[in-house]
Parts: sequence; C-alpha cells; structure tokens
Amino acid sequence: MDHLQRALTKDLASAHVNSKIQKILFDIIFQHVQDMVYVMKVENGPDFRYIFVNESGLNQANLPIEVIGKTMTEALPSEFARDLKKNYEKVLNNRNIVSFDDTFSFDDGRKVYGETILTPIFNVKNKITHVVAVTRDVTAWTIEKNKIIVSEQRYRSIVDNNLDAIFSISLEGKILEANPAAVLMTGYTEKQMINRSIYNLINDWDLERFRELLEKTCSGYALESFDCKFIHRKGKILLVHLKTVPIVIHGEISGVYVICKDLSEQVKSMETIKYMAFHDQLTGLLNRRALLENLSDLIASNKNEFALLSIDLDRFKYINDTIGHIGGDEILKKVADRLGQYQSKLCFVYRQGGDEFNILLLNSDRKKAANFVQQIFSAFVPSFYYNSQEYFITPSIGISMFPNDGMDSEMLIKNADEALFRVKEKGKAHSQFYRTEMNSETTNIVMLETHLRKAIEKNELTLFFQPQIDLQTGKAKSFEALLRWNNPVFGLISPALFIPLAEDTGLIIPIGHWVIESACKQIREWNKMGYHDVRVAVNISPKQFQQHQLIETICFMLQKYEIQASSLEIEITEGSLNNTKETIPILKRLKEIGIKISVDDFGTGYSSLNYLREFPIDILKIDRSFIKDVLVNEKVAAITTTIIHLGKSLGMEVIAEGVESSEQVDFLLKAQCHKIQGFYYSRPIPAKELEQNYLGNL
Ligand code: C2E
Ligand code: MG
Ligand code: MG
Repeated sequence: MDHLQRALTKDLASAHVNSKIQKILFDIIFQHVQDMVYVMKVENGPDFRYIFVNESGLNQANLPIEVIGKTMTEALPSEFARDLKKNYEKVLNNRNIVSFDDTFSFDDGRKVYGETILTPIFNVKNKITHVVAVTRDVTAWTIEKNKIIVSEQRYRSIVDNNLDAIFSISLEGKILEANPAAVLMTGYTEKQMINRSIYNLINDWDLERFRELLEKTCSGYALESFDCKFIHRKGKILLVHLKTVPIVIHGEISGVYVICKDLSEQVKSMETIKYMAFHDQLTGLLNRRALLENLSDLIASNKNEFALLSIDLDRFKYINDTIGHIGGDEILKKVADRLGQYQSKLCFVYRQGGDEFNILLLNSDRKKAANFVQQIFSAFVPSFYYNSQEYFITPSIGISMFPNDGMDSEMLIKNADEALFRVKEKGKAHSQFYRTEMNSETTNIVMLETHLRKAIEKNELTLFFQPQIDLQTGKAKSFEALLRWNNPVFGLISPALFIPLAEDTGLIIPIGHWVIESACKQIREWNKMGYHDVRVAVNISPKQFQQHQLIETICFMLQKYEIQASSLEIEITEGSLNNTKETIPILKRLKEIGIKISVDDFGTGYSSLNYLREFPIDILKIDRSFIKDVLVNEKVAAITTTIIHLGKSLGMEVIAEGVESSEQVDFLLKAQCHKIQGFYYSRPIPAKELEQNYLGNL
C-alpha cells in the first residue's frame, strides 16, 4: 500500500492540498471505504491518467497494479475506455460532480453493477487537474431491486390484464387502485374511483353482506365470496361474483383486494339456454316443454277456470307434400305469426311440433273460449302466400276446460286432443269443446289398428255411395264410393279416422284393393240390372297411387268383372300429383286404359293451376270448404266461379262437393257448375238404397 500512498501524496502535494485534509482523505480512502476509488490526472486530449487506485479499485475491477501511470486509453479496452471517458469529459464540461450507473461484465459471465460519482479537483487557477472517481458496487442491491421490479411487473400484468375487476381498497373501503376490467365494469375511470368508497358502487341490498364480508376478511379469513349486484355508472345493475382477499404486508393486513367476476354474460347465456329449452326453434313460439311447465304451475297455483286449445292445421300434410318441407316450414312460420299475435299475459301460444299448436287462455270460461276460437278462425281467413302462390289453410280446434275436463296437465291435454280428434273426424275446419262422453268413445289407436287388420276378412267393410247430380238434367249417373267400416267393438268408424291410420300402417294397400274390387263388382251388378251408363268414383290415397300394382289391380278387376273402363273413375288428391315424374306416366297409362280421373278436394292443396294443363284430368271436384263459404265470402265465391270456368275451358267436368243448401245450388247453377254432390241431395247411402232412389229414375 505504501507505494500507492507515496505516489498519491506526491501528486496531491503538488496540487497544494492542505496536509490536514490529506490525512482525513487517506484515512477515509484506505481504512473505511469499501468503494473503489480512482484518482485520475487530467491531461490534454483530454485523457485521464491513473495516479491512484485503492485496493478495492484494483481487485473488484480486476485491474493490475501496473495500471498506475497509464492513461485510461492505454489501460482499458477501447470501447469501455471511450464510454468511461465520456462521463469524465462531462465533469470537465460541467465543472461539476457527475454521477452515473454502469455495468461491468466479466469474462466469467459475472456482472457487476456500479454506481459512480466523479468529483472534479480544481487548482488555484480554478482549472480541473484531477478527477476522483468513487464507484460503489451495487450488484447485490440492484439484483434485489430488479427482483422487486419483476415481481411488481408480474403483479401489474396479472392485475391489469385480468378479466375480473380488481379493486384494492383500504380497510375502511376506500378504493386505492382499480384495474382496467374494473373501469370497464363500472363505467368510471380509475381516477374517478380512487379515494371513493367502494360501498358507493354496490347495490343497497347487498351492502350489509358486503360489510360483514369485509370485516371477516380483515380479521384474517383468506377468501370470502358471494354474488352481489354492482351499479354501473349509467345505472345498470350488474350481477357479479365478488371475492375478497386480504392484502398482508409484513404480517399485517393493510387492505383488501376485491375481485369481481361479471356474471352478466353468464346470465345472458343462461337465459339463451333457457330460451332455447322453452321455445320452438322454427317459429320462436313456446314449445311443448313450456306448455307442460306452465300448465302444472297454473294448476298448482291458480284456482280460476282456464281453457286449453289444441289446434291442428287441416290437410297440412298436402302442403308439405306439394311444396316440400322448406316451403311447409315457411308457411308454419306464417301461421305461428298469426297465432303469436294473441300472446299476452292471459294468453300463451305454443307449438307442439309439426302443424300442431296449443293455446292456454287464462281466466276464461267456455263462452270466452268460444269467442276466442272465433277470433282464431278469422285469423285464418286471409290466405297464406309462399313463392307468390296462394294457399288457404284452416285450423281444427279442440278445447278442454280446467278444472271441468281435467285436474292435471295430462288429462287436459288428452281431452283437448280428444275433442280435436272429433273435429277432424267430422270434417275439419271447426272447433269443439271436450265432452265427458268422449272418453267412453275414445278410440284406442293401437286397438283400432289390430281390428283394422282383420276388417277385410271379417267382412266389416262396406261401400256407401253418394250420388253426383247433374244440374242440367237433375239426374245422377255417377256416384262416389265411400268406405264404411262397421266394427262390432267400435261401431261405425269414419274413413277420415281410419284411412290415415291405414296409410300409416300400409293397410291402405289391401284395403284399397278391396275397395277397387268391390266397386267393380258393384258396377257389374248394376250393369247386369241393365244400368250400363253408370260411373263409380273410387278414392285413391296418395300412398296407394304410388304403388306399382295399382294399374295392374285395376286392369285385373276390369277384366274379372267384365266392365267398361269408362264406368270406373279414380279420385286422387292434389297431393298425389306432386311427384310429376312418376305421376304423368301413371296418369297417361290410366287414361289409355280408359279410366276417368278426377282431382278430389280441389283447391286445398296444390294451388298452382298449371298442372291442370299438364295432366290428363277429366274431372275437378271443388272442395267442400269452398262451397261452405261460397255465400258468405265474396273472395271464395270468386275463386269458385273461376275454378268452374277454368275447368270448363280445359274441357273438364266440374263437381261441387259438400252442397248442403238450395242457395248453394242456386249459386252453382248460375256459375254453370256441371254436377253437385252433397247432403242437400243425399248423404252417402248403401247400394240397395241407391238402387231404389236413383237408378230407378235413370
Ligand atoms: P272425400 O273424398 O272428399 O269424400 C267426401 C266426404 O264428404 C265424405 O265423407 C262425404 O260423406 C262428405 N260429404 C259429402 N257431402 C257432404 C255435405 O254436404 N256436407 C258435409 N259436411 N260432408 C259431406 P266421408 O265418407 O266421411 O269420407 C271422408 C274422406 O275419407 C273422403 O273425403 C276420402 O278422402 C276418404 N275416403 C272415403 N272412402 C275412401 C276410400 O275408399 N279410399 C280412400 N283412400 N279414401 C277414402
Ligand atoms: Mg272423394
Ligand atoms: Mg272431397
């Protein structure tokens, strides 16, 4: 150490430093200072020459003793010397103390952080002759500080990027910090929230619980939570799941983190799920599940009378068959819109599926329900449109009343359906209340099917005939064969009831076969009796029409009973004409054979009249629903007249179905309709009766 001391003493002495101060300086530098000390002589250039370095200065900076007497440029790696010199030059320029931080990286990868103070030493001429550099090794402290910075940054990024709102609050509830999610959730800026009480953000109802929660948290319970409501700046109430975490510093709770998860979105998706569970996807109306739930709630809580309507669209199957399911769905949506307009606090509209709807009419007696049903019917008076085609749709409605017709949901639904079933059976497009007697009449479909299978062999089927009166001559030469099933268990069963069942079960094929054979046999008998000029119309259902053996069966029967093809007519519905590719060849073949072809229930299905030109059709039968309204609805009257004229212009015979009054006959006479069929002249009657009443007059 001596040589150092000597060198410095000499140099500093020449700088006229007071000897007393010198002593103090040396004491400090050599005995007390752990810092690195460098005394540099300022030379021209400027460059800085090492004239003194203390032991720490040599050891910690890894400098050899030979550095003394060398300039910085000589002693240090050039880049490092250049950077270091810049700071020394600053001292010369500023003529003042300069401090800076720097880092040394050693070859072994060790990194040392230093904090340096450069102090100028002036001579008597006020010129800077020396610069004293004191560098403190702050590596340990810097590493510690960096750790704190990293953890602070980590904390920040967790807090700032958190999707949950995080408030840090004082023990009294004053907001100290709020993260961006909190800003978003509350609608206030962080600045607006700081120093405000968090209690101001919480809904009054939840304040007490929040206070308790805070107390608990402050007394050391780590995690507490509950669902509470926050108030957004704009007044909107938000449901949040709130958690509190104590802020513990040096073992003491200094505040609380309040973490809030906004549940509004969750609530919304819960609502969506609930909506989907209780609504029909296609129409947006309530669904069957909603009906069951509402019914049981109503029955449990309500002692007032209410009505349950069961609604089914008439012949909707034909619409689906003719315009396809997409078109059918569009029409169903339109029907749903019309029914949906009745939805209110006292009226709930449901779609069961398919073309079946229900309506719950609260606080309603029979009279109110009957009035309401009339409104529903009037909602169906305007026609429906799809692809600019017009469709007429009528509903059939069955009604059951609570508590009269059932004390539970199942019974009420069953009885409304039962009443609906009766409506359909009687010929659609009207409504009926449930009657208790219906129960005993209830036809068990499964049993019905079992019996229907045996109906032919047990000889339970018969044909009735309904005359078609020529309006010119007043005589009937053609008759529609209508099937009757007389079952010992169920009695006389309507074809409207069992034909759909027969279609569904495939029984329509043997039954249809039986009908054709029976009709041919009957024609043969009448021929034998001398009536050669009669024609019998047989109904062919769409399923039957698509069967390949239909033509074979007909040809076979014509031969077997030796009758003329022209005395047999087949009635097909518009639904059968749907599949044009297969339909045209079948119709052409029938035409070649000489069979007459009529379109039954005309006007209710395929509304396009184009196919009338395409298909070899002989007869149009205007549906009963038109005739029913022909005198009361001008539009219907106009359509009916048009159909008659159109049929005539295409060379077809036009028959009006369901004629029940003399006024209707007058209308049809005026419109020059060819023939009429209906109760006004005769109901369908057995062959024997027909022979007496009609054939005798021929
Ligand atoms: P449809 O072919 O339209 O037959 C006319 C229906 O209207 C018959 O009902 C007839 O009794 C009824 N009717 C006739 N005039 C009037 C009237 O003035 N007012 C009222 N309200 N109704 C009248 P029915 O016999 O109950 O037959 C219902 C349906 O069952 C028939 O409608 C037809 O689609 C089907 N059907 C009947 N027999 C057969 C059959 O042998 N085979 C097939 N596949 N279906 C049949
Ligand atoms: Mg018919
Ligand atoms: Mg008909």
